[in-house]
Amino acid sequence: MWRATILTLFPEMFPGPLGLSLAGDALARGVWRIETKQIREHGLGRHRAVDDTPAGGGPGMVMRADVLAAAIDAAAPEGDSRPRLLMSPRGAPLTQQRVRDLAQGPGAVILCARFEGVDERIVAARGLEEVSIGDYILSGGEIAALALMDACVRLLPGVMGEELSGEEESFEGGLLEYPQYTRPRDFEGREIPQVLLSGDHAKIAKWRREEALELTRARRPDLIARKPD
Ligand code: SAH
Repeated sequence: MWRATILTLFPEMFPGPLGLSLAGDALARGVWRIETKQIREHGLGRHRAVDDTPAGGGPGMVMRADVLAAAIDAAAPEGDSRPRLLMSPRGAPLTQQRVRDLAQGPGAVILCARFEGVDERIVAARGLEEVSIGDYILSGGEIAALALMDACVRLLPGVMGEELSGEEESFEGGLLEYPQYTRPRDFEGREIPQVLLSGDHAKIAKWRREEALELTRARRPDLIARKPD
């Protein structure tokens, strides 16, 4: 069973939206599991402090490496083979390829930071892989962790209704998805493209390929540059 362990100061944020819809049904059916660990349980002193002022000065607070190490060691002892992820705007941008790899593995241990982030030394000391969900700053890693888990869980066997629908989507072929339409045929004077109503499957497939390519060229030329073949 795919298993996520979340280290956070806000365990109440989980499963949150992942308790509903596809992911929620799968959670109820035991396809995957989520457990949260309160980092503060490893905090120091009477106030269970988890952060301190930045060495060298500057604004904000930094999460302490010793506190995080204790939390990680308790949550994922040696022998736990799951990758250890640190949600971080400085991490490698999350891709569908990485999501697929994670979904095929045993799960993930996910560290959600707050404040100005974590003491740099924890990354090497506990072999953390830094993962970003995009070039913008969130107030904490929790929403990033939810996004990552959502992307993984929908790929687990038996989660998506139609197994095939995952294979045609944006990014799966290295391209953005072609445009989709449904009833009504005429919406405020805008028609569904004729070819989609033709019943000619070869022609439809060709049209979709071309549209996907054109859309990707216009919006995300970087994806085409990255395409392996
Ligand atoms: N001072 C840091 C930002 C801290 S934001 C910097 O400039 O790099 C607080 C925490 O939110 C981060 O440590 C990280 O855990 C999470 N976070 C913020 N933006 C994120 C993003 N784009 N992807 C993943 N996690 C993010």
